[in-house]
Amino acid sequence: MKPSLIVHGGAWNIPDEAVDACKSGCHRALAAGWSILSRGGSALDAIEAAVMVLEDDPVFDAGYGSHLNLDGHVECDAIVMNGATLRAGAAATLQRVRNPVQLARKILEDSPHMMLVAEGAERFAKQHGIKLCKPEELVSDAEREAWMKCKSDKHAAEHHRGHEQGTVGAVAIDVNGSLFAATSTGGTCCKLPGRVGDSPLIGCGCYADSEAGGVSCTGYGEAIMKVVLAKSTVDLLRGPATCVDTPPSISCGASTADLAAREAIHLFAKRTHATGGLILLDRHGNPGFAFNTARMAYGYVAPDGSFLTAV
Ligand code: ASP
Repeated sequence: MKPSLIVHGGAWNIPDEAVDACKSGCHRALAAGWSILSRGGSALDAIEAAVMVLEDDPVFDAGYGSHLNLDGHVECDAIVMNGATLRAGAAATLQRVRNPVQLARKILEDSPHMMLVAEGAERFAKQHGIKLCKPEELVSDAEREAWMKCKSDKHAAEHHRGHEQGTVGAVAIDVNGSLFAATSTGGTCCKLPGRVGDSPLIGCGCYADSEAGGVSCTGYGEAIMKVVLAKSTVDLLRGPATCVDTPPSISCGASTADLAAREAIHLFAKRTHATGGLILLDRHGNPGFAFNTARMAYGYVAPDGSFLTAV
């Protein structure tokens, strides 16, 4: 099977001055994932590598440089899902894990559970060879400054000009047809300590089923949860065009994937009046994306192997 990869770096009002940084982050994430997939490597390794690049880049709201909660701490959430087994590994409210997607993968592979939170998740990380960092090592100067402004005034989007970008995610299919999806986030700015949004919740911020496709979402988590957006989107990919065992050349084009993405965002907006975005691969590896925010940072590998990125 031909491998395929799509990534995103959040859907919000990404300001003009951050557009190039977001594009270049998505490009580097594609390069990291594609160097694995194009050599016959696994979709799991590829999404982990791609998401780690995005987590390490402070222009995105995941890992280092995440938004701060009301107490001024970074609290990260992440999930990885296997489309073949329907098993997920997820972790939430992490304060001392530099790359939450790595821990999500460990939970997927080495734990009998599907989700761990807070101190228990961090203890599991340590026991499984993931070095813990100091909480303050995850705080960027830009986010500390924005948080101070929110604290001295009130939380406002304009305090985040230049760094209000969202969550990150990736979906990949490898040469063996294995499908994995991942989402990683620092959540919303000035959230209550302990708040968990859609991102690490199976079916909400992420879902993968090899019989239909894989999805990673971004946007206002409290609304995404209401319509279980990732699972609802995957279900739209189960239609006759993609669900039966017919060759992709007959019933599945890129437009099928795009139409499903668009329909999902339309239903989400209609029912919740909120904003967000998503990326997906259908089970044949066709990429699709949609968003109803001003902008979304995303990128995918075109059929000729070139990287397409946009904001
Ligand atoms: N969905 C994330 C959350 O609510 C935020 C985002 O996508 O930017 O935690």
